Amino acid sequence: MSAFTESHLARLGIYRIETPNPFSDVKTNCYFIEGDAPTLIDTGLATNEAYELISRELLRRGRRIRDVKRIILTHGHADHRALAPRIREESGAPVFCHRSEAGKVTQTSPEQKAIRDGRSARFFQSIGAPPELLQKLVHGPQNPSIKPRLDCVSFADDGDVIRFDDFTLCVLHTPGHSCGSICLYDAENKLLVTGDTLLPDPRITALLEFDIFEDNPGYRGLKLHMDALDRLLSLACHLVLPGHGAPFEGYHAIADKVFERHRKRQRHILRALRNGPRTPYQICRSVFLFSSPDDLFLALSETIGNIDILEEEGKLVRRKEDGLVYCTRV
Ligand SMILES: [Zn+2]
Ligand SMILES: [Zn+2]
Repeated sequence: MSAFTESHLARLGIYRIETPNPFSDVKTNCYFIEGDAPTLIDTGLATNEAYELISRELLRRGRRIRDVKRIILTHGHADHRALAPRIREESGAPVFCHRSEAGKVTQTSPEQKAIRDGRSARFFQSIGAPPELLQKLVHGPQNPSIKPRLDCVSFADDGDVIRFDDFTLCVLHTPGHSCGSICLYDAENKLLVTGDTLLPDPRITALLEFDIFEDNPGYRGLKLHMDALDRLLSLACHLVLPGHGAPFEGYHAIADKVFERHRKRQRHILRALRNGPRTPYQICRSVFLFSSPDDLFLALSETIGNIDILEEEGKLVRRKEDGLVYCTRV
């Protein structure tokens, strides 16, 4: 982050805190906003290291964790929300997220978890994932730092305005990366907090969400993600404060790269179907190179998202045969 950007943000009382991720070298940004209602936007994973980093930054501003009055979550992925319960416990601060995201942020009963796991297992089977990968895909990474959940959340819905001492942030519901992702927009200072909806790295995508699919079979994550980016592009904005990486300007060029990247994927998917029908898993294997089940999950999310778009554009069809989904080029 340039010294100019840092001092510009400091004038508004906004401080970025990068918290570590034990699974990868990608750190998560939390933003501390000073004022009458000291506020945290995102919290990082539930590690002591993240807690200490946030405590230290607050102390530098003459505050303690117990002084935090609000926690706002851009979305419910563990790297953004898992430390929130500990901070809430110490401060009593309400935690805000979009209502569609509450299921990821709050406690899940064993019954709900079993239902969700069953849905994701059926989904991965239907797209042709091999049995040896199913367990890992369904249960994802297991680590105490992703586990903590809240008893309750407050809602931050599209159009809500959050007031700070010298500016306001307007909540924009930008579903796609997750169904309840939000961005926060300061129209006066032309700042945009984007969570994972827009990052300096254009590789971010819409992720598969199994709770959504069965209740809402028309849910198309990547299409929504693209629509959300279009909405962001219509805003006047000088500086983006992303969920990972340094704040940046010139976000139109990055959004263009995201669009181009997916158009390229769509060409590769159609090419993979040259010699006849393929399952989404087979398509994914021929379009992506990956090494771990986490990478595979991301690659499958991107593959399914682009299959959704190609189907909507009439370029391929999906049909089911013996419980397996096959895609055919039109
Ligand atoms: Zn995320
Ligand atoms: Zn993230």
